[in-house]
Amino acid sequence: IVHWPFSATQRRKLNWVQLAGHKGNFKAADEGNILKKFSENEMQCFEKLRDDALLPYVPGYHGVVEKDGESFLHMTDLLANFDLPNVMDCKMGNEDILGGGSLFRARERPKPREDLYKKMVEVDSEGPTPQEHSQRGVTKPRYMQWRETMSSTNTLGFRIEGIKKCDGTCRTDFKKTRSKQDVIQVFKDFVGGNASIIKSYLSRLTEIQQALKMSEFFKQHEVIGSSLLFIHDHTGNAQVWIIDFGKTTALPEGQTLNHDIPWQEGNREDGYLWGLENLLHTLESVSIE
Ligand code: ATP
Ligand code: MG
Ligand code: MG
Repeated sequence: IVHWPFSATQRRKLNWVQLAGHKGNFKAADEGNILKKFSENEMQCFEKLRDDALLPYVPGYHGVVEKDGESFLHMTDLLANFDLPNVMDCKMGNEDILGGGSLFRARERPKPREDLYKKMVEVDSEGPTPQEHSQRGVTKPRYMQWRETMSSTNTLGFRIEGIKKCDGTCRTDFKKTRSKQDVIQVFKDFVGGNASIIKSYLSRLTEIQQALKMSEFFKQHEVIGSSLLFIHDHTGNAQVWIIDFGKTTALPEGQTLNHDIPWQEGNREDGYLWGLENLLHTLESVSIE
């Protein structure tokens, strides 16, 4: 018997990684659970998912709780059953080009922002147009469109947001990971060349694909900014979960989406299934090399 030198709580803290979002959005909860900052939208999604085909693929949802005067969604910590997990957040489908979800706001005239200008220059000094350079500002829709063309979102319908490996190294600089070959390389490195992990991931993704096609929830929602969370560890345990429904919105009554036809302003197609198909093909190419 090997005695792990940390208590359960310490260990949970060591295990916890957050590859996206503001750090303050999450809090530790009781054993095996976490708290995510409340959003009405995400809560409604979890409520509707309670009796949907996707239920086995989303984190367990245990209701709304109050802590320190704030509301949170109480959910299962997907990392809890792993020993020193490797984690990847892969954002599915199209970007939210219009900002805040096409349903949320009518298009206002967006203001140029210096923070977005700086973010753009950091990745590519030739990203901004001469005008954007001179005003030192880039609007949000322009930034998002640009980011989409830089990453694999445009070419493959998904992009890697971040990776944390069991050795503690963390990377979120995948904005320029664009081609299928680039993505294959990142996955290969992520699994440490372990073909059986890739196999487990592929079978789980195939199950998710089937569940999505069955799901009433999926038909009736525009799924924007949701991720697939890949988790594996040295014991060979490998899982994929659907997370983040913060920007997932219900369509008007009676309307449904295909999820695999191109986005056009107004059609609200999110490209989720197209991205998933490409992700499956990409992972298949990892395993046969
Ligand atoms: P953003 O919208 O910027 O992506 P967010 O605040 O909506 O961020 P999420 O995307 O839901 O937050 O989660 C951020 C990160 O936290 C994920 O990339 C993942 O690393 C971790 N995470 C989220 N939910 C869980 C969970 N149930 N179990 C384990 N880790 C989680
Ligand atoms: Mg997210
Ligand atoms: Mg989110």
